[in-house]
Amino acid sequence: MRSSPVTIAIDGPSGSGKSSVSRAVARELGLEYLDTGAMYRALTWWCLDRGFDLTDPQTVASASTRLPLEIGTDPDHPRIAVDGTDIVQAVREPHISAHVSTIATNLAVRADMRDRQRRIIAAARGHSGGIVVEGRDITTVVAPDAEHRVLLSASEEARLSRRAKELQDNAVRQSADDTRDQVLRRDRDDATVSAFFEPAEGVVGIDTSHLTFDQSVAAVLSLVRGAPLTQDHPEPITEGLS
Ligand code: C5P
Repeated sequence: MRSSPVTIAIDGPSGSGKSSVSRAVARELGLEYLDTGAMYRALTWWCLDRGFDLTDPQTVASASTRLPLEIGTDPDHPRIAVDGTDIVQAVREPHISAHVSTIATNLAVRADMRDRQRRIIAAARGHSGGIVVEGRDITTVVAPDAEHRVLLSASEEARLSRRAKELQDNAVRQSADDTRDQVLRRDRDDATVSAFFEPAEGVVGIDTSHLTFDQSVAAVLSLVRGAPLTQDHPEPITEGLS
């Protein structure tokens, strides 16, 4: 008999490790995977590509409802296309990161993205074992009724050094100031509309500052499997209170 579908909601700030950890957890459990940040990035790419005025909230809100977005949920094959154009690489460019918060702090855009994300979650639950969804407001707004809700955090220092390494690995050249802008300024702006620094009530917080990638994945898997903690992931795990 097929077991009940599961949704694993994972939030966290930039550099907390949520994208890579979420993808690995999905792979390990044979679940689908949704990168909600990629959806906001895709809308930013489309607005810039079309020359829409990002400072006009109505223009951006209307673009969001019309966005011809296709997003894949296979953790092994990321796929994001807008109007048939593959933008998997393009959405990672620094100029998209620099503008995405302007789009993501538009409340009409957030409502549209939330609805799109809920439809993707419902479809995954209907036709596969479920889905790992990562972002900034998944545990609180998009899927507050998810079977598992996790908030990954990390110190500012760890987040900055991870993001710098990631950009280096992707051969993106940028200054330390640009990296700070991409992590700290962006999180500050994003935090005006979503709470992703502290776990909400019932959300389990995992501090990954001193965890390796494998330990972070193991910590999330233990939670999902209901296994006791081991020496592999000894970092503080807390549960949000009201
Ligand atoms: O996770 P990533 O850095 O790709 O997210 C890009 C941007 O998308 C964030 O800086 C934030 O502005 C927005 N975002 C959001 N809510 C989510 C996921 C991402 O506002 N659930």
